[in-house]
Amino acid sequence: MSEKQEGAVPHLAAEEFRQLGYRMVDWIAGYWDRLESFPVRAPVAPGDVAARLPPHPPEQGLDGEKGWEAVFQDLEQVVLPGTTHWQSPSFFGYFPANVSGPAVLGELLSAGLGVQGMLWSTGPACTELEARVMDWLVELLGLPASFLSTSPTGGGVIQGSASEATLVAMVAARARIRRMSPGDAPLVAYASTQVHSSLLKAAMLCGVARDASDTTHVRTIATDATYGLNPEALERAITEDLAAGKRPFFVCATLGTTSSGAVDRLGPIGEVLARTGVTASGGWLHVDAAWAGAALVCPEFREGLAGMEAVDSFCFDPHKWLLTNFDCDAFFTRDRGALLEALSVMPEYLRNTASASGSVTDYRDWQVPLGRRFRALKLWLVLRHYGRQGLQAYIREHVRLAQRFVGWVAQDARFELAVPRSLALVCFRLAARPAEASAATDARNRALLERLNATGEVFLSHTVLPGVGERPTRYVLRMAIGGTRTQEGHVRACWELLQRLASE
Ligand SMILES: *Cc1c(COP(=O)(O)O)cnc(C)c1O
Repeated sequence: MSEKQEGAVPHLAAEEFRQLGYRMVDWIAGYWDRLESFPVRAPVAPGDVAARLPPHPPEQGLDGEKGWEAVFQDLEQVVLPGTTHWQSPSFFGYFPANVSGPAVLGELLSAGLGVQGMLWSTGPACTELEARVMDWLVELLGLPASFLSTSPTGGGVIQGSASEATLVAMVAARARIRRMSPGDAPLVAYASTQVHSSLLKAAMLCGVARDASDTTHVRTIATDATYGLNPEALERAITEDLAAGKRPFFVCATLGTTSSGAVDRLGPIGEVLARTGVTASGGWLHVDAAWAGAALVCPEFREGLAGMEAVDSFCFDPHKWLLTNFDCDAFFTRDRGALLEALSVMPEYLRNTASASGSVTDYRDWQVPLGRRFRALKLWLVLRHYGRQGLQAYIREHVRLAQRFVGWVAQDARFELAVPRSLALVCFRLAARPAEASAATDARNRALLERLNATGEVFLSHTVLPGVGERPTRYVLRMAIGGTRTQEGHVRACWELLQRLASE
């Protein structure tokens, strides 16, 4: 216990911080070791966690290291029981939210340095390391050289999330279309029916969409049978809007949709934009590869990149499937000028000679907030620790496990694949029984998922895929493989559990 003077601010002494820090790292490593001993989904009801927390803030602080005993106890007794274990090797829900040792150490370092990297001058290393790590990603993923920070007009930046990246892309697109095609004609954005909800949110924030039901200014375009955007339907919508005097300004294509991992073909979309004159008038093509982008580290998974020449911006989330803890979205553009046009403001108190010289990057002009953390550190440590080869091995193993899972599904007549496997995502379900109504099949699948998750042994989530042609709308289960510690045994155990529950 430290000796404290009356009225003195009770900071942790350096030695106390060290000891507690060692212990906390130990606790985290121990948590990772214990992951398989917890129910994957938190078995709590709303309010259970809050009921175990004091209603009022503490009057007096903790008494040094000894006082911190209570914190470690609360982690075990309050926090863990109310935690859904995303890091469990048997967590297969939504998309993964990978965490790795190097990333956590980078996060800790970022917190310890406490740098505010809003301007180059407030964080030279924060800025230049980020630019370099983003350039490394361009090379690792096989993205166009026009996205490099060293290219004449492009560059990459870390955003908090794919949602923020889409918003930033959209405001940049709006600035550019206003400059290149001035006027009052209403702006219209386009994406497939399978686009992530963040597109609509971005349009609402930008004032492009009136509200969430505004389908005039955010048009969702029909898909083909694989749930990829139908380019002919896009062309019809754009042509119709141009004839009605509107300004098509933004198209969001998805590589790996959230529902089923579908891929929009960039080549034909780019051709539609060129043919309709949208490109020439300043229209913007953004690519959301939030989850699937990580797989681009493997050359064999780069088919979706065909047509990237027409793309103005691209983003993916290393915080999903590239071993980097939330938050970390990698956003690239070939038109950084449009970002600056949309987002730069220079108040007197931020003026400085480096910015005035025009020779530095001030990342505050590339994002919504002013302040920014040194997030590049965690990505830097991940890329250095694993290297290209390690990252490739990691992605390939998950894809291999998904292939195994598909093989098992194919051998059991009670189940069927809902769509072809996309990388490490398998959408599957209990097949319809002869003459069974589709609502009844859906209900059996819903019940199976609930029973499965109630076991606490695994966690999966679901989606609803729209009907196409003769095929009805379908409720399907999603098996998203991508945990840092997921191995074949976990995937097999999940399949065996599914088989057992299906026969009950
Ligand atoms: C997960 C996901 C998002 C949202 O990701 P955040 O980084 O949490 O904003 C956006 N688009 C797609 C396709 C996604 O799968």
